[in-house]
Amino acid sequence: MGVFEAIGTESHEEVLFGADRESGLRTIIAIHNTSLGPALGGTRFYPYADEEAALRDVLRLSKGMTLKSAAAGLDLGGGKAVIIGDPATIRSERLIRAYGRVVDSLGGRYVTAADVGTTTDDMVLIAKETPWVSGLPFSEGGSGDPSPATARGVMASFRAIGERLWGSADLAGRRIAIQGVGKVGMDLARRLTEVGAETVVTDANADSMTHAVETYGSTEVSVDEIYDVACDIFSPCALGATLNEATIPRLRCLAIAGCANNQLALDSDIKRIVERGILYAPDFVVNAGGVINIAAETGGYSAERAGAMVDRIHDNLIAVFKTAESDGVNTHDAAVRFAQRRIDQVGDLRYRKPRSEK
Ligand code: NAD
Repeated sequence: MGVFEAIGTESHEEVLFGADRESGLRTIIAIHNTSLGPALGGTRFYPYADEEAALRDVLRLSKGMTLKSAAAGLDLGGGKAVIIGDPATIRSERLIRAYGRVVDSLGGRYVTAADVGTTTDDMVLIAKETPWVSGLPFSEGGSGDPSPATARGVMASFRAIGERLWGSADLAGRRIAIQGVGKVGMDLARRLTEVGAETVVTDANADSMTHAVETYGSTEVSVDEIYDVACDIFSPCALGATLNEATIPRLRCLAIAGCANNQLALDSDIKRIVERGILYAPDFVVNAGGVINIAAETGGYSAERAGAMVDRIHDNLIAVFKTAESDGVNTHDAAVRFAQRRIDQVGDLRYRKPRSEK
């Protein structure tokens, strides 16, 4: 596929390719939509098989950020960046700072943050080259690691599901199967234990599972067995695309809600979930806690204010469930409509000139 064809398919506004020969930097920044505000999205540093794979990923992820921020009620657009290469071998101060200069060249249309393969320390280096960086460590006046906020948002989603399915936000005695106890999943296990829920966990890393078992009394199952666990909520918190043709028929849950991005292997997999009578909480609504936490840096970060903003994910999800009902569509399509409606309703305001300039 040609680059313009790739950009045109999902109506991206702009794609920037940047390089620095000295350090080996090769980067692509995709700005999907800035109707609601600057395009915010993390920088993924990953050894892509080839340039086309990197372009495909950055286009897909930047569109996801537009929906995520719009559904979260933020005044932010959607963007994303990728750096091609293995961070373990090619990361250097020069490479990260050279990348910062590419971000700077966009003059604030794109604001970056940490993602897979980049850290808050990288953001500190980027901040030497551009003000258009967020998610700095607490010590630098930023909001730090977004994972706890993401886990808090997943908990808010669980409460919304509880109200919907069993008429109560109380999670005590409920059984949650967590697929992946990494930064977010582990904090989720902690929060669930605190409210008296039972957790069943799996992880590709045995040490992580052992930690969850020993610290939070979780039950462990193998990576493959997690799909067969009888539970109230199945929570994908590892990789994307784990809800697919092979796994959906095996699920024994009432609802699905987790932090992983792009959980559905194909958009059409939502139909399989609906047919099974399972309530699906769309990933980009559920996992917005991290970006909300970063957005809370505007005007000076306060953990208390950020936490209250993240808790509104509960209301957003209830609104999505209501949209699904009123429009007669599935919850995934309802979430896309919910986000798109906000872009349509307030998105053009930024382009209107103040009265005095007319
Ligand atoms: P992480 O890398 O800390 O955790 C992922 C965990 O999944 C790891 O412990 C890994 O061993 C495990 N894992 C990998 N493959 C697995 C498999 N096949 N089965 C079971 N476990 C497996 O990442 P994280 O920050 O906790 O994020 C988890 C997911 O949520 C990712 O998809 C990420 O993109 C998404 N997400 C994270 C945030 C955030 O704030 N960290 C925000 C939004 C979305």
